[in-house]
Amino acid sequence: MNEENQVYFVDSDQLPPAALERKHRLEQDPSFRTNHMEYMKGMQIIGSDIKEKVLKAMDAYDYDVYTAADVERALSNESCSIEDFKALLSPAAAPYLEQMARKAEEITKNHFGNTVYIFTPLYIANYCQNYCIYCGFNCYNNIRRKKLSFEEIEHEMQVIAKTGMEEILMLTGESRAYSDVHYIGEAVKIAKKYFKKISGLRSIRSMSMSTGICTSVVWTM
Ligand code: SF4
Repeated sequence: MNEENQVYFVDSDQLPPAALERKHRLEQDPSFRTNHMEYMKGMQIIGSDIKEKVLKAMDAYDYDVYTAADVERALSNESCSIEDFKALLSPAAAPYLEQMARKAEEITKNHFGNTVYIFTPLYIANYCQNYCIYCGFNCYNNIRRKKLSFEEIEHEMQVIAKTGMEEILMLTGESRAYSDVHYIGEAVKIAKKYFKKISGLRSIRSMSMSTGICTSVVWTM
């Protein structure tokens, strides 16, 4: 890395000048980045007012109005109302952390018992067209990229299944060129031969920016 670039998060001397310039602009100029709160071209516009409702409730939340009695009421209720949650998040709840932890444990056990859930993650491709600064796979990193062939996927899955694992989590970066829907679909067909449960996670940040926020599609079969 040359001296001029040392202020940047992740750099590679091997990037072409245009890519380096774009990367530096993304890092330094927030207006150049995609606004995740706006619809992008081609997206379905849902027309929901949920975001406005949440923001309005957040602005109206005055955590100083809640008392110990509100917290105790929230803890004694079988299920929490929104008002109960507000009380539990207020400073009045600070002395009740122990009770809150016990209640949380009780509810968790009621829902899930003592089950421990084990699965294996398998990246079938690490090509990515996005740039999340925390991620080693971001497109500006000069790393070895690989997309497993279907034979390689099958081999990996055979080896994993032999260990007794019954669930697999398949992952890719976001790359329409290297890991498109057809590729993922074929990989899922292979996985179905070896695992009872198949989950997947594919990043869908169709934008290049550097806030490190990554939205993902998760599927389970
Ligand atoms: S989209 Fe996912 S794989 Fe790609 S850089 Fe971001 S976190 Fe990494």
